[in-house]
Amino acid sequence: MTEHYDVIIIGTGAGGGTLAWRLAPSGARILLLERGEYVQREKENWSTHAVNVAGRYATKEVWTDGDGKPLHPHTNYYVGGNTKFYGSALFRLRREDFGEIHHFGGVSPAWPIGYEEIEPYYAEAERLYHVHGIRGEDPTEPPASGPFPHPPVSHEPRIQHLSEDFQRAGLRPFHVPLGIMLNEQDPQRSKCIRCNTCDGFPCLLHAKSDAQVVCVDPALQYPNVRLLTGAYVQRLETSASGREISRVVVSRNGAVEHYSADIVVTSCGAINSAALLLRSANDRHPRGLANGSDALGRHYMGHVNSVLMAVSKCPNPTIFQKTLAVNDFYLGSPEWPFPMGHISFVGKFDGVTLSAGAPAIAPGFTLDLMAKHSLDFWLTSEDLPDPENRVTVDREGRVVLRYKPNNEEGHKRLTKKLESIMQHHSSCAIHGHECHLGLFSRNLFVGQRIPLAGVAHQNGTLRFGNDPATSVLDRTCRAHEIDNLYAVDGSFFPSSGAVNPALTIMANALRVGDHLLARLGHRAGTQMAVTS
Ligand SMILES: Cc1cc2nc3c(=O)[nH]c(=O)nc-3n(C[C@H](O)[C@H](O)[C@H](O)COP(=O)(O)OP(=O)(O)OC[C@H]3O[C@@H](n4cnc5c(N)ncnc54)[C@H](O)[C@@H]3O)c2cc1C
Ligand code: SF4
Repeated sequence: MTEHYDVIIIGTGAGGGTLAWRLAPSGARILLLERGEYVQREKENWSTHAVNVAGRYATKEVWTDGDGKPLHPHTNYYVGGNTKFYGSALFRLRREDFGEIHHFGGVSPAWPIGYEEIEPYYAEAERLYHVHGIRGEDPTEPPASGPFPHPPVSHEPRIQHLSEDFQRAGLRPFHVPLGIMLNEQDPQRSKCIRCNTCDGFPCLLHAKSDAQVVCVDPALQYPNVRLLTGAYVQRLETSASGREISRVVVSRNGAVEHYSADIVVTSCGAINSAALLLRSANDRHPRGLANGSDALGRHYMGHVNSVLMAVSKCPNPTIFQKTLAVNDFYLGSPEWPFPMGHISFVGKFDGVTLSAGAPAIAPGFTLDLMAKHSLDFWLTSEDLPDPENRVTVDREGRVVLRYKPNNEEGHKRLTKKLESIMQHHSSCAIHGHECHLGLFSRNLFVGQRIPLAGVAHQNGTLRFGNDPATSVLDRTCRAHEIDNLYAVDGSFFPSSGAVNPALTIMANALRVGDHLLARLGHRAGTQMAVTS
C-alpha cells in the first residue's frame, strides 16, 4: 500500500530542513525521508581523533572518480545533513554573483533571479539561524534590509592583532557572520560555550544553528509533520505520461516501502539529488528524470579551496579562530581585474588533526608545536560550471564523480596576496617581520579520505534557469519537465560564487517554501497549533 501526503521532502539538511520548518505551520501533511539517523550525543562529538582521524561520523559509502578509482567522500548522512558538522559561516552571496561575471578562467553565468528577490529570505534565514555579525564592515557585502539579528562574535587577542595588522596594510577585515547561539554579554546563560571543536564537529550542546536543532525538531512539534530516519530513497517513479512523480520508493529497515505526495522535493545534497534522478530513469525519461536538457548531473561545482597554515615564532592560543575574514580581493584588485576570492579561517588545528594529513612541517617544529603556532586560513575561490564536471551513476546506482579543477589562476593570486600580506605584518613586538615563518599548505584529509574541499561545498548539478534547453529546474526550483518535482538543496546553483553556500540554500528553501504554500493554497505564515 502507498501512503499519500501533501508534501514529501527527501533529505533534512540546509535545504530540506529549512523547507520543512517553513511548511510545518500550514497544516499540510508532510513526510520527511532521511537516510541517516540523529547524530548520537556522546563525548566523541568533540574528539578531534574520533572526528578528524577515525572519521567516526563520515559516511562509509564509496564512490568512484572518472577513472574508476574509489573515492571516500567526506560527507555526512544525518538528520540535519551536513549542517550538523558545518562551521556555520553564514554568508550572503554578493549582489554581483547573481549577474554574469568575467573571470580570468571564463564566465560565471547569471542567475534567473536577482539579489533583490532573495534578499528578504536572506534576512529571514539570518534570523532563523541566529546569525551574529556587523553590517557595513565587509566591503563587498550586498545591501541588506536590516542589521544582523545578533552582535558579532568577538575576536580573541591573536585574531584581533591580525585584524589590526590587516587594517594597517589597507585591507578591510570583518567579523564572519556566524550561526552559533553565543551570548557574550551573559556567558552563564549562553548555550554556546565558545569551544575549540566547532567547525567540522557536531555540537554536543545543540548550540550550533544547524538544520536539525533550528528547523527539523521544531517542525516535528506539529502533528502534521512526520520524519522517517534510516529511510533511503532509492528511486522516484512517474505516471505513464512522465509528467508527475507518482511513487517514492524507499528502503528502510531492510524492506522496500512506497509513498506518494502531491509535491515531491528532493534535497539530498547536490550530488545525491542528481544521483537519485539519474537512478530513476524510465521510458519517458531515458537519460534520468527531467533531463531533456542533458544538464542533469552536469556543471558540478565545489569551489577551489585550500587550507594554508601561517606559522609564526609566537604561539596562537586562540580557541575559536573562525571570526575574521577578508573580501578585499573577492571581485579583483587594481592590479588584476578578475575575481580572486575569499580569505577566512578554519577551526583551530591541533596536532592530532594534523596527524591525519601529510602537511609540510616547518623546520624545527613537531606537528603539535606547529599547530600551536599556526594561523589556519581557509581560502575559497569560485570554480566555473563545466558540463564535463559531472555526477553519473554506475550500473548499481552508485555515484561516479568527475571533476577537473578550473579557474585556478585567481586562487593562486589570492594565495600570493595572503603570503605577501603575512610577510609584511608586524604584530609581533619580539620578532617583528621575522616572526612569520611562511605559509604551509595542507590538504584536509580525514583518514585516507579525499580532501574535504572535494564535496563539502557541492552545488550546481540541477541548475535552475528560464530556458528548459539548458537547465533542469525553473526559477521556482520546479523541474521543467515534471510538474510536482522540486529541488531545494545546493543543486540549483547556476554558479558557485566564492563564499560558503549554506545561507543561500536556506534562503532559497524559504523562497521556494512560499511558492509551495501558495500552490498548496496556504498563505505564507499561516499558523497551526503545535502539539504539547
Ligand atoms: C565540515 C564542513 C564544514 C562546512 N562549513 C560550512 C560553513 O561554515 N558555511 C557554509 O555555508 N557551509 C559549510 N559547509 C557546507 C554546508 O554544510 C552545505 O552547503 C549544506 O549543508 C548543504 O545543504 P544541502 O541541503 O544541499 O545538503 P545536506 O545538508 O548535505 O543535506 C542532504 C541530506 O539528504 C540526505 N540524503 C542524501 N541522499 C538521500 C537519499 N537517497 N534518501 C534520503 N535521504 C538522503 C542526507 O543524509 C542529508 O541529511 C560545510 C560542510 C562541511 C562538511
Ligand atoms: S559550544 Fe559553541 S563553539 Fe562549541 S560546538 Fe557548540 S556552537 Fe560551536
